[in-house]
Amino acid sequence: MIVLDLTSLCLANSIVTGVTALVLLSMRQQHADMRGVGSWAAGQAAYAGGFLLLLQVDADPRPHAALPGFFCLFTGSLLISFGLLRFLRAAGATVRRVVAATASIVWLLLLMAALIWDRPGPVLTLMPAIQILVSVTNMLMLWQYGRGALRTPALALAFVFCLWALFCLMRLGFILAKGPDTGAAMDTLPGAVLASTLVLTCHALGLVWLVVGRMQQHLLAQALTDPLTQALNRRGLEERGREQQSLADRGGAAFSVVTFDLDHFKLLNDTHGHMVGDTVLVRVVETVKQQLQPSDLVARLGGEEFCLLMPGTAGAAASGVADRLRHAIADLLIPATTGPVSVTASFGVAWHGTHGRDWHALLDAADRALYQAKNQGRNRVETAPADLMPPPVPLRLIAGC
Ligand code: GH3
Ligand code: MG
Ligand code: MG
Repeated sequence: MIVLDLTSLCLANSIVTGVTALVLLSMRQQHADMRGVGSWAAGQAAYAGGFLLLLQVDADPRPHAALPGFFCLFTGSLLISFGLLRFLRAAGATVRRVVAATASIVWLLLLMAALIWDRPGPVLTLMPAIQILVSVTNMLMLWQYGRGALRTPALALAFVFCLWALFCLMRLGFILAKGPDTGAAMDTLPGAVLASTLVLTCHALGLVWLVVGRMQQHLLAQALTDPLTQALNRRGLEERGREQQSLADRGGAAFSVVTFDLDHFKLLNDTHGHMVGDTVLVRVVETVKQQLQPSDLVARLGGEEFCLLMPGTAGAAASGVADRLRHAIADLLIPATTGPVSVTASFGVAWHGTHGRDWHALLDAADRALYQAKNQGRNRVETAPADLMPPPVPLRLIAGC
C-alpha cells in the first residue's frame, strides 16, 4: 500500500516547480521580448518556496505554521495568471478586471485565513475555494486568447486547469458536506497534494509548450517578413495572394493588386548613400501602412519594388488608393546629413475579375501597368488594360447538367 507522506509530496512538488522555474527563466533570458514568461518563472519559484515552507508544518503542526506556505503558493498562482495575461496579450479591459478581481478576492480569503488561523478546518476549506477561483480565471483566459499556433497548448493547459478546478470543487463539496470543523479538510489534504503533483507537472509542460508555440509563431513571422522594412516578403505575399484568390473564387469580394516602384532610386542612393536609401525604404513602407486599411497588405517584391494586396477593393477605388499613396510618398521629407530627401513612386493597378482570375496573372498585369507608368514619365498611376479572356465556364455547364 502506498503511504501518502505529506513531507515527501511537498518536497516532490517543490522540486518539480523549482526545475520548471529554472527552465522558464532560461527561456525568458533567450527570448527577452516574450512577455509573461518572467512572471511564470517567478510564480513557479513562489510555488517551490511555498512547498518548502509547508515542510516546517512537521516541526510545528499548529495551523498558522502553514500560512506562510499557503501565502507563497497563492502568490505563485496569481503570478501565473498575471503572466498568462501578458503572454496571451489579453488586452481587453474585462479580462484585466477579472484578473484584478481574482487577485483581490484571493488576498481577502488569505487575510480571512490569517484571522481564523486557530481553526484549521475552515482555514483548509478556504484553500480549494481559492484554487477554483484562480483555475477558472486562467482557464477562461487560455480559452479566449490562445490563438494560432498557441491554440493547442492553450486548450491543453485550459483542460488541466479545468480538471484541477473540478477536483477542488469535489473536495470543497466533500469538506462542506462533512462540516469544516470535522477534520475532513485535513483527511483529504494528502490526496489533494498528490493530485497537485500531477497537475503541477502537466502545468509545467503546458507552460513550456506555450513558449514553444510562441517561438513557432515568431519563426513563421520571420520567414514571411522582410527584415528591413517589416513588410511581407515574396513568400508571405504568395501565401496571402493564394488565400485571396481562393476566397474570391468561392464568391468572396474581389481584391486588387497594386505594384509600385520608387523612381530613380539608384540616383538617390548614389547622391545620399545606401543608408539613407534604406531609411527611405523603411519610411515609405511606414507611410503606406498608415494609409491602408487593417485588412490590406504591403509586401516588398525586392529592391525598391513593392506590392499591395487589397481585399474588397477593386475598380476605381483601387486606383484611388494608389493615387492617394502616390501623393503621400511624394509628400515625404526624410532628413539626412546631405539635406532633406524626397522620393516619388510609379504605380500599376489590376483587380480580380477585370484583369484575370489567377492571382499571378493579376500581379503580372499590375507589373505591366507599372512599367507603362515608368515609360510615361514616372510618379503616376496606370491601370492595366482589361483582360479580354472570356469568363470561366461554370462547372455545371461543363458537366451538362
Ligand atoms: P526607375 O525609376 O526606373 O525605377 O529607376 P531606379 O534607379 O529606381 O531603378 P534601378 O533598377 O536602376 O535601381 C534600383 C536601385 O535600388 C539599385 C539598387 O542599388 C537599389 N536598391 C535595391 N535594394 C536596395 C536596398 O535594400 N537598399 C538600398 N538603399 N538600395 C537598394
Ligand atoms: Mg525604381
Ligand atoms: Mg525596381
